[in-house]
Amino acid sequence: MILQRTLNHSIRCSGIGLHSGKKISLILHPAKENHGIIFRRSDLGIDIPARSEFVTDTRLCTTIGKDGASISTIEHLLSALSGLGVDNALIEVDAPEVPVMDGSSAPFVFLIQCAGIRSQKRAKKVLRILNKVEVTDGDKRCSLHPATGFKISYLLDYDHPLLRQRQVTIDFSQQAYTREVSRARTFGFLHEIESLQKSGLALGGSLENAVVLDQFRVLNDGGLRYDDECVRHKILDTLGDLFLAGLPIVGAFEGERTGHEMNHRLVTALLANKASWVIEELLDDQEDHTASAIETAGLSPTFR
Ligand SMILES: [Zn+2]
Repeated sequence: MILQRTLNHSIRCSGIGLHSGKKISLILHPAKENHGIIFRRSDLGIDIPARSEFVTDTRLCTTIGKDGASISTIEHLLSALSGLGVDNALIEVDAPEVPVMDGSSAPFVFLIQCAGIRSQKRAKKVLRILNKVEVTDGDKRCSLHPATGFKISYLLDYDHPLLRQRQVTIDFSQQAYTREVSRARTFGFLHEIESLQKSGLALGGSLENAVVLDQFRVLNDGGLRYDDECVRHKILDTLGDLFLAGLPIVGAFEGERTGHEMNHRLVTALLANKASWVIEELLDDQEDHTASAIETAGLSPTFR
């Protein structure tokens, strides 16, 4: 039997917000069994569960909200928690967004590793896909299928010389989240970033926290971290958005040209179609997609 996991102890960091450009304080706390992931606006004293019914906006990033409070850009931190198999945590931020850090989830992976991960007493629960669920919108489509373990396949297809028809598949039972996905940064096009900033958005966005492309090439001095970094970032985002189902998913995701909005529609369609999934305790080590991530992170397998 696989057990639920949380952090060993609380840990904090600070960074700037992508939208506001202002400094934000972030604290991750351990939480008891079956707590799930809950965000807290420490400046307002309002808790917002990381679940799809609390999603209020999916433009540019994923935002959750409740009782007039909201938190944006939750997906990279959720991706790190999902990728490392953390089931229960309370996350405090003192602003309406999670700090963007370097635009990837690697700084959050590092933070979680520094806190350490420990096993709890109750069995880990997962949401197993039983029947295919799909959402489409023109040439955008994404779906979840029954499968052992957890896999994400994504096709990126922009009208850009570096981003045409790029497909990557990650099987998380074989490939480690930390190594294969977590370092991939968010990306944007120079003309879009300039127009967003003129409208007072993405004020914290820079070459420090995004891959920026002009019409032909990557503008960042160091180039890309992976040859297909932008596709891998889409996979990173997907992992975070799917975690809003409230539990880790056992199944396979396939996406083409999709983003946060389609991911949210897919999770909503999935949860509404109760014949398409079942919640069960995870019994088989082979289906624990975080095992390889934990080994790569240098954590003791004995805590499992
Ligand atoms: Zn992202």
